[in-house]
Amino acid sequence: MSPITERNGEMMRRGRIEVICGSMFSGKTEELIRRLKRAEFARQSVEIFKPSIDTRYAEQDVVSHEGNSIPSTPVDSSASILLLGSDTDVVGIDEAQFFDENLIDVCNELANRGTRVIVAGLDLDFKGIPFGPMPGLCAVADEVTKVHAICVRCGALAYVSHRTVDNEKRVLLGEQTAYEPLCRACYQKAIEKDNLKHQA
Ligand SMILES: [Zn+2]
Repeated sequence: MSPITERNGEMMRRGRIEVICGSMFSGKTEELIRRLKRAEFARQSVEIFKPSIDTRYAEQDVVSHEGNSIPSTPVDSSASILLLGSDTDVVGIDEAQFFDENLIDVCNELANRGTRVIVAGLDLDFKGIPFGPMPGLCAVADEVTKVHAICVRCGALAYVSHRTVDNEKRVLLGEQTAYEPLCRACYQKAIEKDNLKHQA
């Protein structure tokens, strides 16, 4: 554990929760990796966790679409993060939307003990519904950064990942081509079209 020296001379760690949220292709994971690498460079101890269901690319790495990677530990539940991450200066969590609701308590507990917790995840599912523990995490966070992709239809800032294939399952892993980032207006139009297709 490497303590951060406070201005008053006391040695203490500062716990906080930072949330990075947004649609797919918005650069969430790049931003998470950037913050974690900066902490590593400052010789702080860093642990990264992701849900074990996310096996998109390499099994042990948090990998962004740009191919930038950082070694991580896949875990089955948020409780494991509390066990494995409690002696760490900085805990990173990727794909947080796939974790259970208990992740909110876990992040609070870690932050209360002095850990800086940085969480990245999808804020909305493909239907525009807040995803898993993300809304609760945004509420308890000290700082929330909403990142945006670009709408592929009009170039405005996107807010949701529209699914381009016909599948009602909430989680569709490893299917990057099955989504397109859309702004609110273009998403409304796309949904209308999808509904007409279903009625036909
Ligand atoms: Zn648009």
